[in-house]
Amino acid sequence: MRGAAGITGIRYTGRDEGAEKRYHRPCPEPFSRYPMRDTETKLNPLDLLASLFGSGKGGYGLDEAAWRAVLELPLFDGLDAAERQRLRNRVIGLLADKAFSGAGGLEMTGAMATTIAAFAALQVLNLGEDWYAGWTEIVVYPGEFVYEGEQMDETGVVHHVRHARSGEAMERGPLVLSWQDVEGSGRGGRFNVVIHEFAHKLDMRNGSANGRPPLHAGMDSDDWARILQAAYDDLCRRVDRNEETLIDPYASENPAEFFAVLSEYFFEAPDVLHKACPAVYAQLAQFYRQDTLARLSPTGGAIAL
Ligand SMILES: [Zn+2]
Repeated sequence: MRGAAGITGIRYTGRDEGAEKRYHRPCPEPFSRYPMRDTETKLNPLDLLASLFGSGKGGYGLDEAAWRAVLELPLFDGLDAAERQRLRNRVIGLLADKAFSGAGGLEMTGAMATTIAAFAALQVLNLGEDWYAGWTEIVVYPGEFVYEGEQMDETGVVHHVRHARSGEAMERGPLVLSWQDVEGSGRGGRFNVVIHEFAHKLDMRNGSANGRPPLHAGMDSDDWARILQAAYDDLCRRVDRNEETLIDPYASENPAEFFAVLSEYFFEAPDVLHKACPAVYAQLAQFYRQDTLARLSPTGGAIAL
């Protein structure tokens, strides 16, 4: 739910504690964002608990066939040999550090784990997989999973909610994915459920997800706050006027979703992100330490990092 109240009072500086708490909520990724809908499974908290007793950390090694297949996806276009080798090392590191398990009838395989790890590894290609430290479990459902329970709205009123989700990142807890949506990611569209959920995990490294992950030395947190806030406000205004937007309106949900959705664009459609908000592209290029636009087109990227 996004209302006019969601537009004001949100800051990326991390100084406005009240606003952060007010707007932080679990991340329900809506139906409309990802293609290929034909299954949904009810989220069973026991699945998440069961994952603790599943294959365990490091249960899957790199699947060579899946690795070769994933590198054929448009998402990985433009990586040079050294970057591919570094990516492979990061994938191996993630497979060793994370416990992948299937839920809702999905039988987890090494190929699935390799594919998920490859998307997530690309995100931290120049950061290091330590950025995903502090949590272990990755639970995968066959398709969307349905969360049903109580949720507090922005005014403090508790509602009974039923959300279909294609992914969820829990603070200090598991990361949950729909395999159907993983399969639809990486193909040059504007979405990637793995990158989206792992972006939430990066954001949570310095507290609740609020659209501002820890920034590197040399990055200016005031610049980050000013630039992302302006782009966020602009998107919210356009969405409220029912304008067509280059960026998925779901990004206007709250600053955490804005960062996660724009991270998807940064990797999957950097040209669209650069066209919509070049200053945000430059901030994300500094944060991820990658120039994805240059990979898309060797002559197209001219972003100074
Ligand atoms: Zn989200």
